[in-house]
Amino acid sequence: MPSAAEQPTMPAGELGVKAQAGKPSREQRLRLTIREFFDVTLPRALTGLDGRLERARAWRAAFYDAGLAGLGYPESFGGHGGDSSDLAVLAEESRGRIPPEEDVFGIGVRMALPVIRDLASPELKSRFLRSGLSGQEIWCQLYSEPGAGSDLASLSTSAVRDGEEWVVSGQKVWTSGAQHSDLAILLARTDPAAPKHRGITMFVLAMHQPGVTVRPLRQMTGVAEFNEVFLDEARLPASWVVGDVNDGWRAAVALLGYERVATGTSSVERPATQKLKAGRAPLPAAQLAELAALRHRSDDLSVRQDLARLYAGERIMAWLGMRAAHPSIGKLWRTRQGRAAAQVAHGLALSGGAAWEQDDQDRDYFAYHILNCRAMSIGGGTDEMQRNTLAEKALGLPRS
Ligand SMILES: Cc1cc2nc3c(=O)[nH]c(=O)nc-3n(C[C@H](O)[C@H](O)[C@H](O)COP(=O)(O)OP(=O)(O)OC[C@H]3O[C@@H](n4cnc5c(N)ncnc54)[C@H](O)[C@@H]3O)c2cc1C
Repeated sequence: MPSAAEQPTMPAGELGVKAQAGKPSREQRLRLTIREFFDVTLPRALTGLDGRLERARAWRAAFYDAGLAGLGYPESFGGHGGDSSDLAVLAEESRGRIPPEEDVFGIGVRMALPVIRDLASPELKSRFLRSGLSGQEIWCQLYSEPGAGSDLASLSTSAVRDGEEWVVSGQKVWTSGAQHSDLAILLARTDPAAPKHRGITMFVLAMHQPGVTVRPLRQMTGVAEFNEVFLDEARLPASWVVGDVNDGWRAAVALLGYERVATGTSSVERPATQKLKAGRAPLPAAQLAELAALRHRSDDLSVRQDLARLYAGERIMAWLGMRAAHPSIGKLWRTRQGRAAAQVAHGLALSGGAAWEQDDQDRDYFAYHILNCRAMSIGGGTDEMQRNTLAEKALGLPRS
Protein backbone atom coordinates (compact mmCIF):
# COMPACT_ATOMS: atom_id res chain seq x y z
CA MET A 1 0.00 0.00 0.00
CA PRO A 2 2.34 2.83 -1.09
CA SER A 3 1.64 6.23 0.45
CA ALA A 4 0.95 9.10 -1.90
CA ALA A 5 4.32 10.53 -0.95
CA GLU A 6 6.04 7.32 -1.93
CA GLN A 7 4.41 6.96 -5.30
CA PRO A 8 7.05 7.27 -8.00
CA THR A 9 6.96 10.46 -10.02
CA MET A 10 7.16 10.04 -13.76
CA PRO A 11 10.43 11.04 -15.39
CA ALA A 12 10.27 14.16 -17.54
CA GLY A 13 10.33 12.10 -20.73
CA GLU A 14 7.25 10.10 -19.69
CA LEU A 15 4.83 12.77 -18.67
CA GLY A 16 1.85 10.84 -19.91
CA VAL A 17 0.74 13.55 -22.35
CA LYS A 18 1.38 13.82 -26.06
CA ALA A 19 3.97 16.48 -26.90
CA GLN A 20 4.78 17.96 -30.24
CA ALA A 21 8.23 16.75 -31.30
CA GLY A 22 10.91 18.85 -29.55
CA LYS A 23 8.50 21.29 -27.96
CA PRO A 24 7.01 20.57 -24.54
CA SER A 25 3.30 21.24 -24.30
CA ARG A 26 1.93 23.77 -21.82
CA GLU A 27 0.78 20.90 -19.61
CA GLN A 28 4.25 19.30 -19.67
CA ARG A 29 5.89 22.59 -18.75
CA LEU A 30 3.54 22.99 -15.81
CA ARG A 31 4.20 19.43 -14.61
CA LEU A 32 7.95 20.03 -14.78
CA THR A 33 7.64 23.32 -12.90
CA ILE A 34 5.66 21.63 -10.13
CA ARG A 35 8.06 18.70 -9.84
CA GLU A 36 11.08 20.96 -9.75
CA PHE A 37 9.39 23.05 -7.08
CA PHE A 38 8.72 20.08 -4.81
CA ASP A 39 12.00 18.28 -5.53
CA VAL A 40 14.41 21.20 -5.36
CA THR A 41 12.99 24.62 -4.48
CA LEU A 42 10.80 23.74 -1.50
CA PRO A 43 13.32 21.62 0.44
CA ARG A 44 15.81 24.46 0.01
CA ALA A 45 13.27 27.08 1.18
CA LEU A 46 12.47 25.10 4.35
CA THR A 47 16.04 24.22 5.28
CA GLY A 48 16.88 25.26 8.85
CA LEU A 49 13.33 26.43 9.70
CA ASP A 50 11.69 24.84 12.75
CA GLY A 51 8.71 26.91 13.90
CA ARG A 52 5.30 25.99 12.45
CA LEU A 53 4.40 29.55 11.41
CA GLU A 54 7.87 30.26 10.10
CA ARG A 55 7.78 27.12 7.94
CA ALA A 56 4.20 27.86 6.86
CA ARG A 57 5.09 31.35 5.63
CA ALA A 58 8.25 30.12 3.90
CA TRP A 59 6.34 27.33 2.10
CA ARG A 60 3.61 29.68 0.84
CA ALA A 61 6.10 32.37 -0.24
CA ALA A 62 8.12 29.81 -2.22
CA PHE A 63 4.94 28.31 -3.73
CA TYR A 64 3.83 31.77 -4.80
CA ASP A 65 7.23 32.74 -6.21
CA ALA A 66 7.21 29.53 -8.30
CA GLY A 67 4.03 30.82 -9.99
CA LEU A 68 1.83 28.08 -8.48
CA ALA A 69 -0.01 29.51 -5.45
CA GLY A 70 -2.09 31.92 -7.54
CA LEU A 71 -3.32 29.51 -10.23
CA GLY A 72 -7.01 30.14 -10.76
CA TYR A 73 -6.68 33.82 -9.77
CA PRO A 74 -6.43 36.73 -12.25
CA GLU A 75 -2.92 38.05 -12.88
CA SER A 76 -4.19 41.63 -12.55
CA PHE A 77 -4.81 40.98 -8.83
CA GLY A 78 -1.62 39.10 -8.04
CA GLY A 79 -2.75 35.65 -9.19
CA HIS A 80 -1.06 33.40 -11.73
CA GLY A 81 -3.96 32.97 -14.17
CA GLY A 82 -4.54 29.49 -15.57
CA ASP A 83 -7.71 27.48 -15.96
CA SER A 84 -9.35 24.41 -14.45
CA SER A 85 -7.05 22.04 -16.38
CA ASP A 86 -4.00 23.75 -14.80
CA LEU A 87 -5.59 23.35 -11.38
CA ALA A 88 -6.24 19.67 -12.08
CA VAL A 89 -2.56 19.19 -13.03
CA LEU A 90 -1.49 21.04 -9.87
CA ALA A 91 -3.77 18.86 -7.71
CA GLU A 92 -2.45 15.69 -9.31
CA GLU A 93 1.24 16.60 -9.12
CA SER A 94 1.10 18.02 -5.59
CA ARG A 95 -0.92 15.18 -4.04
CA GLY A 96 0.89 13.97 -0.94
CA ARG A 97 3.60 16.61 -1.25
CA ILE A 98 2.00 19.68 0.35
CA PRO A 99 3.66 20.34 3.72
CA PRO A 100 1.35 20.04 6.77
CA GLU A 101 1.95 23.70 7.65
CA GLU A 102 -0.41 24.59 4.77
CA ASP A 103 -3.22 24.04 7.33
CA VAL A 104 -2.38 27.49 8.69
CA PHE A 105 -3.66 28.99 5.42
CA GLY A 106 -6.71 26.76 5.02
CA ILE A 107 -9.31 29.40 5.83
CA GLY A 108 -7.65 32.11 3.76
CA VAL A 109 -6.62 30.16 0.71
CA ARG A 110 -9.53 27.73 0.48
CA MET A 111 -12.42 29.87 1.74
CA ALA A 112 -11.94 33.63 2.16
CA LEU A 113 -9.80 34.36 -0.91
CA PRO A 114 -12.02 32.47 -3.39
CA VAL A 115 -15.03 34.46 -2.14
CA ILE A 116 -13.10 37.73 -2.38
CA ARG A 117 -12.08 36.80 -5.93
CA ASP A 118 -15.71 35.96 -6.85
CA LEU A 119 -17.62 38.73 -5.07
CA ALA A 120 -15.45 41.58 -3.78
CA SER A 121 -14.64 44.96 -5.31
CA PRO A 122 -11.45 45.47 -7.37
CA GLU A 123 -10.09 47.48 -4.41
CA LEU A 124 -10.43 44.51 -2.04
CA LYS A 125 -9.05 42.07 -4.61
CA SER A 126 -5.96 44.27 -5.02
CA ARG A 127 -5.55 44.64 -1.30
CA PHE A 128 -6.02 41.01 -0.19
CA LEU A 129 -5.44 38.44 -2.94
CA ARG A 130 -1.69 38.73 -3.49
CA SER A 131 -0.85 38.98 0.22
CA GLY A 132 -3.11 36.02 1.06
CA LEU A 133 -1.92 33.76 -1.73
CA SER A 134 1.74 34.43 -0.92
CA GLY A 135 1.27 33.75 2.80
CA GLN A 136 2.01 37.24 4.06
CA GLU A 137 -1.37 37.38 5.80
CA ILE A 138 -3.16 34.58 7.66
CA TRP A 139 -6.95 34.47 7.85
CA CYS A 140 -9.58 33.19 10.25
CA GLN A 141 -13.37 32.89 9.98
CA LEU A 142 -15.60 34.87 12.35
CA TYR A 143 -18.94 33.15 11.72
CA SER A 144 -20.13 31.08 14.74
CA GLU A 145 -21.42 32.72 17.90
CA PRO A 146 -22.58 31.32 21.25
CA GLY A 147 -26.18 31.66 20.01
CA ALA A 148 -25.64 30.97 16.30
CA GLY A 149 -23.99 27.80 14.98
CA SER A 150 -26.06 25.61 12.65
CA ASP A 151 -28.59 28.43 12.59
CA LEU A 152 -25.92 30.88 11.51
CA ALA A 153 -28.40 33.51 10.27
CA SER A 154 -29.39 34.14 13.92
CA LEU A 155 -26.05 35.84 14.55
CA SER A 156 -26.16 38.98 16.67
CA THR A 157 -22.71 40.58 16.34
CA SER A 158 -23.48 44.05 15.02
CA ALA A 159 -21.75 46.43 12.62
CA VAL A 160 -22.78 50.09 12.65
CA ARG A 161 -21.62 52.65 10.13
CA ASP A 162 -19.67 55.56 11.64
CA GLY A 163 -18.50 57.99 8.93
CA GLU A 164 -15.85 56.26 6.84
CA GLU A 165 -15.73 53.21 9.11
CA TRP A 166 -17.84 50.33 10.43
CA VAL A 167 -17.82 49.69 14.18
CA VAL A 168 -18.23 46.03 15.19
CA SER A 169 -19.31 44.64 18.60
CA GLY A 170 -20.25 41.13 19.70
CA GLN A 171 -18.77 37.71 20.43
CA LYS A 172 -17.63 34.92 18.14
CA VAL A 173 -16.66 31.41 19.18
CA TRP A 174 -14.84 28.29 17.88
CA THR A 175 -12.65 30.55 15.74
CA SER A 176 -9.90 28.27 14.41
CA GLY A 177 -6.47 29.86 14.18
CA ALA A 178 -7.58 33.29 15.48
CA GLN A 179 -4.52 33.34 17.75
CA HIS A 180 -2.17 33.76 14.79
CA SER A 181 -4.44 35.41 12.23
CA ASP A 182 -3.90 38.83 10.69
CA LEU A 183 -7.31 39.12 9.04
CA ALA A 184 -10.80 37.68 9.46
CA ILE A 185 -13.74 37.14 7.20
CA LEU A 186 -16.56 38.39 9.40
CA LEU A 187 -20.35 38.13 9.34
CA ALA A 188 -22.20 40.85 11.23
CA ARG A 189 -25.75 42.17 11.41
CA THR A 190 -26.12 45.52 9.70
CA ASP A 191 -29.92 45.80 9.61
CA PRO A 192 -31.54 44.45 12.80
CA ALA A 193 -35.01 45.28 11.48
CA ALA A 194 -34.70 43.12 8.34
CA PRO A 195 -35.62 39.38 8.22
CA LYS A 196 -32.66 37.46 9.67
CA HIS A 197 -31.13 36.31 6.36
CA ARG A 198 -31.34 39.79 4.82
CA GLY A 199 -29.75 42.11 7.39
CA ILE A 200 -26.28 40.48 7.37
CA THR A 201 -23.09 41.81 5.75
CA MET A 202 -19.75 40.10 5.09
CA PHE A 203 -16.67 42.16 6.02
CA VAL A 204 -12.90 41.87 6.28
CA LEU A 205 -11.62 42.69 9.76
CA ALA A 206 -8.03 43.37 10.82
CA MET A 207 -7.37 41.19 13.89
CA HIS A 208 -4.49 43.22 15.31
CA GLN A 209 -6.35 46.16 16.82
CA PRO A 210 -7.47 47.23 20.32
CA GLY A 211 -11.14 46.20 19.87
CA VAL A 212 -10.30 42.52 19.21
CA THR A 213 -9.58 40.10 22.10
CA VAL A 214 -8.72 36.46 21.37
CA ARG A 215 -9.05 33.85 24.14
CA PRO A 216 -7.94 30.26 23.46
CA LEU A 217 -10.25 27.27 24.11
CA ARG A 218 -8.42 24.09 25.10
CA GLN A 219 -9.89 20.95 23.55
CA MET A 220 -9.83 17.38 24.91
CA THR A 221 -6.84 16.72 22.66
CA GLY A 222 -4.88 19.08 24.92
CA VAL A 223 -4.36 21.53 22.06
CA ALA A 224 -6.04 24.95 21.80
CA GLU A 225 -6.78 25.17 18.08
CA PHE A 226 -9.76 27.44 18.36
CA ASN A 227 -10.76 30.50 20.35
CA GLU A 228 -13.39 32.87 21.61
CA VAL A 229 -13.11 36.28 19.93
CA PHE A 230 -14.55 39.34 21.66
CA LEU A 231 -15.26 42.36 19.48
CA ASP A 232 -15.58 45.61 21.39
CA GLU A 233 -16.04 48.49 18.98
CA ALA A 234 -13.51 47.04 16.57
CA ARG A 235 -13.14 49.17 13.45
CA LEU A 236 -12.79 48.56 9.74
CA PRO A 237 -12.82 50.83 6.67
CA ALA A 238 -16.23 51.48 5.07
CA SER A 239 -15.08 49.83 1.83
CA TRP A 240 -14.05 46.49 3.40
CA VAL A 241 -17.41 44.93 2.53
CA VAL A 242 -17.41 41.68 0.51
CA GLY A 243 -20.33 41.92 -1.92
CA ASP A 244 -23.06 44.34 -0.91
CA VAL A 245 -24.23 45.69 2.43
CA ASN A 246 -27.10 43.54 3.78
CA ASP A 247 -26.42 40.90 1.09
CA GLY A 248 -23.93 39.01 3.23
CA TRP A 249 -25.98 35.81 3.39
CA ARG A 250 -25.26 35.15 -0.29
CA ALA A 251 -21.53 35.62 0.37
CA ALA A 252 -21.76 33.50 3.54
CA VAL A 253 -23.33 30.61 1.65
CA ALA A 254 -20.74 30.92 -1.14
CA LEU A 255 -17.97 30.62 1.47
CA LEU A 256 -19.66 27.63 3.13
CA GLY A 257 -19.66 25.92 -0.27
CA TYR A 258 -15.89 26.41 -0.53
CA GLU A 259 -15.53 25.25 3.08
CA ARG A 260 -17.34 21.98 2.39
CA VAL A 261 -15.10 21.32 -0.58
CA ALA A 262 -12.02 22.15 1.50
CA THR A 263 -13.00 19.92 4.42
CA GLY A 264 -14.17 17.12 2.15
CA THR A 265 -10.95 16.94 0.15
CA SER A 266 -8.26 18.03 2.62
CA SER A 267 -7.53 14.50 3.79
CA VAL A 268 -6.32 13.24 0.44
CA GLU A 269 -3.51 15.75 0.32
CA ARG A 270 -1.66 14.66 3.44
CA PRO A 271 1.43 12.47 3.00
CA ALA A 272 1.26 9.24 4.97
CA THR A 273 4.81 9.87 6.18
CA GLN A 274 3.78 12.94 8.21
CA LYS A 275 2.80 12.54 11.82
CA LEU A 276 1.49 15.88 12.94
CA LYS A 277 -0.75 16.62 15.91
CA ALA A 278 -2.91 19.04 13.95
CA GLY A 279 -5.43 19.18 11.15
CA ARG A 280 -8.65 17.33 10.54
CA ALA A 281 -7.59 14.68 8.10
CA PRO A 282 -8.39 11.03 8.88
CA LEU A 283 -5.43 8.84 9.89
CA PRO A 284 -3.98 7.37 6.68
CA ALA A 285 -4.43 3.61 6.19
CA ALA A 286 -0.69 3.28 5.43
CA GLN A 287 0.18 4.60 8.90
CA LEU A 288 -2.22 2.14 10.49
CA ALA A 289 -0.70 -0.69 8.47
CA GLU A 290 2.68 0.30 9.90
CA LEU A 291 1.21 0.37 13.37
CA ALA A 292 -0.26 -3.10 12.81
CA ALA A 293 3.19 -4.38 11.80
CA LEU A 294 4.75 -2.77 14.86
CA ARG A 295 2.19 -4.52 17.06
CA HIS A 296 2.69 -7.86 15.25
CA ARG A 297 -0.93 -7.78 14.12
CA SER A 298 -0.43 -7.77 10.33
CA ASP A 299 -1.54 -11.42 10.13
CA ASP A 300 -4.69 -10.82 12.16
CA LEU A 301 -7.58 -11.44 9.76
CA SER A 302 -9.90 -8.82 11.23
CA VAL A 303 -7.13 -6.18 11.26
CA ARG A 304 -6.38 -6.91 7.61
CA GLN A 305 -10.07 -6.53 6.76
CA ASP A 306 -10.20 -3.21 8.62
CA LEU A 307 -7.08 -1.87 6.90
CA ALA A 308 -8.29 -2.86 3.45
CA ARG A 309 -11.65 -1.22 4.16
CA LEU A 310 -9.89 1.97 5.24
CA TYR A 311 -7.73 1.98 2.14
CA ALA A 312 -10.83 1.60 -0.06
CA GLY A 313 -12.43 4.51 1.83
CA GLU A 314 -9.36 6.64 1.23
CA ARG A 315 -9.48 6.02 -2.51
CA ILE A 316 -13.20 6.87 -2.57
CA MET A 317 -12.45 10.17 -0.81
CA ALA A 318 -9.74 10.92 -3.36
CA TRP A 319 -12.12 10.24 -6.25
CA LEU A 320 -14.90 12.27 -4.65
CA GLY A 321 -12.42 15.16 -4.47
CA MET A 322 -11.78 14.93 -8.21
CA ARG A 323 -15.41 14.78 -9.24
CA ALA A 324 -18.15 17.35 -9.22
CA ALA A 325 -20.05 15.52 -6.48
CA HIS A 326 -22.06 17.66 -4.05
CA PRO A 327 -19.47 18.90 -1.51
CA SER A 328 -21.56 17.66 1.44
CA ILE A 329 -20.94 14.10 0.24
CA GLY A 330 -17.16 14.51 0.53
CA LYS A 331 -17.47 16.08 3.94
CA LEU A 332 -19.75 13.32 5.25
CA TRP A 333 -17.45 10.67 3.85
CA ARG A 334 -14.45 12.25 5.54
CA THR A 335 -16.19 12.14 8.94
CA ARG A 336 -17.03 8.49 8.44
CA GLN A 337 -13.49 7.68 7.33
CA GLY A 338 -12.00 9.65 10.24
CA ARG A 339 -14.04 7.74 12.79
CA ALA A 340 -13.36 4.37 11.20
CA ALA A 341 -9.60 5.08 11.12
CA ALA A 342 -9.64 6.25 14.75
CA GLN A 343 -11.47 3.08 15.74
CA VAL A 344 -8.80 0.93 14.07
CA ALA A 345 -6.01 2.97 15.72
CA HIS A 346 -7.73 2.52 19.04
CA GLY A 347 -7.85 -1.26 18.59
CA LEU A 348 -4.22 -1.43 17.54
CA ALA A 349 -2.54 0.97 19.89
CA LEU A 350 -4.42 1.14 23.15
CA SER A 351 -3.64 -1.16 25.98
CA GLY A 352 -6.90 -2.76 27.12
CA GLY A 353 -8.76 0.02 25.34
CA ALA A 354 -8.01 2.35 28.21
CA ALA A 355 -4.39 3.49 28.40
CA TRP A 356 -1.45 3.87 26.11
CA GLU A 357 1.58 1.70 26.60
CA GLN A 358 4.48 3.65 27.99
CA ASP A 359 6.97 2.59 25.31
CA ASP A 360 4.76 3.67 22.41
CA GLN A 361 6.66 6.33 20.50
CA ASP A 362 3.60 7.40 18.51
CA ARG A 363 1.40 7.66 21.58
CA ASP A 364 0.62 11.36 21.41
CA TYR A 365 0.08 11.34 17.69
CA PHE A 366 -2.50 8.53 17.64
CA ALA A 367 -4.15 9.71 20.87
CA TYR A 368 -4.59 13.15 19.34
CA HIS A 369 -6.29 11.81 16.21
CA ILE A 370 -8.48 9.32 18.09
CA LEU A 371 -9.84 12.20 20.19
CA ASN A 372 -9.86 14.78 17.42
CA CYS A 373 -11.97 12.72 15.02
CA ARG A 374 -15.07 13.70 17.01
CA ALA A 375 -14.63 17.30 15.84
CA MET A 376 -14.84 16.29 12.17
CA SER A 377 -18.60 15.85 12.32
CA ILE A 378 -19.05 19.40 13.71
CA GLY A 379 -16.53 21.83 12.19
CA GLY A 380 -17.51 23.23 8.80
CA GLY A 381 -21.20 22.39 9.46
CA THR A 382 -22.44 19.33 11.36
CA ASP A 383 -23.23 16.00 9.72
CA GLU A 384 -26.93 16.56 10.39
CA MET A 385 -26.79 19.89 8.55
CA GLN A 386 -24.90 18.31 5.62
CA ARG A 387 -27.62 15.67 5.37
CA ASN A 388 -30.31 18.38 5.56
CA THR A 389 -28.57 20.12 2.65
CA LEU A 390 -28.49 16.92 0.58
CA ALA A 391 -32.13 16.17 1.43
CA GLU A 392 -33.19 19.61 0.24
CA LYS A 393 -30.79 20.33 -2.63
CA ALA A 394 -30.21 16.86 -4.06
CA LEU A 395 -33.50 15.12 -3.25
CA GLY A 396 -35.85 18.10 -3.35
CA LEU A 397 -37.37 17.30 0.07
CA PRO A 398 -39.13 20.16 1.91
CA ARG A 399 -36.98 22.50 4.07
CA SER A 400 -36.54 21.31 7.66
C1 LIG B 1 -12.92 21.81 15.01
C2 LIG B 1 -13.89 22.94 14.80
C3 LIG B 1 -13.47 24.09 14.19
C4 LIG B 1 -14.34 25.16 14.00
N1 LIG B 1 -13.87 26.30 13.41
C5 LIG B 1 -14.70 27.35 13.25
C6 LIG B 1 -14.20 28.59 12.71
O1 LIG B 1 -13.01 28.72 12.38
N2 LIG B 1 -15.05 29.62 12.58
C7 LIG B 1 -16.37 29.52 12.94
O2 LIG B 1 -17.08 30.50 12.76
N3 LIG B 1 -16.87 28.38 13.48
C8 LIG B 1 -16.07 27.30 13.64
N4 LIG B 1 -16.54 26.13 14.20
C9 LIG B 1 -17.92 26.09 14.66
C10 LIG B 1 -18.84 25.20 13.84
O3 LIG B 1 -19.11 25.77 12.59
C11 LIG B 1 -20.11 25.00 14.67
O4 LIG B 1 -19.75 24.30 15.84
C12 LIG B 1 -21.16 24.22 13.91
O5 LIG B 1 -21.68 24.99 12.87
C13 LIG B 1 -22.31 23.77 14.84
O6 LIG B 1 -22.80 24.83 15.58
P1 LIG B 1 -23.01 24.70 17.17
O7 LIG B 1 -21.73 24.21 17.75
O8 LIG B 1 -23.56 25.98 17.66
O9 LIG B 1 -24.08 23.52 17.36
P2 LIG B 1 -25.65 23.65 17.22
O10 LIG B 1 -26.00 24.41 16.00
O11 LIG B 1 -26.20 24.16 18.51
O12 LIG B 1 -26.09 22.13 17.02
C14 LIG B 1 -26.20 21.21 18.11
C15 LIG B 1 -26.68 19.88 17.53
O13 LIG B 1 -27.99 20.03 16.96
C16 LIG B 1 -28.00 19.60 15.62
N5 LIG B 1 -28.88 20.45 14.81
C17 LIG B 1 -28.98 21.80 14.86
N6 LIG B 1 -29.86 22.24 13.95
C18 LIG B 1 -30.35 21.14 13.30
C19 LIG B 1 -31.29 20.94 12.25
N7 LIG B 1 -31.92 21.96 11.65
N8 LIG B 1 -31.49 19.68 11.81
C20 LIG B 1 -30.86 18.61 12.39
N9 LIG B 1 -29.97 18.74 13.41
C21 LIG B 1 -29.71 19.98 13.85
C22 LIG B 1 -26.55 19.75 15.15
O14 LIG B 1 -26.26 18.91 14.03
C23 LIG B 1 -25.79 19.35 16.40
O15 LIG B 1 -25.68 17.96 16.49
C24 LIG B 1 -15.69 25.05 14.41
C25 LIG B 1 -16.12 23.88 15.04
C26 LIG B 1 -15.23 22.83 15.25
C27 LIG B 1 -15.71 21.59 15.92
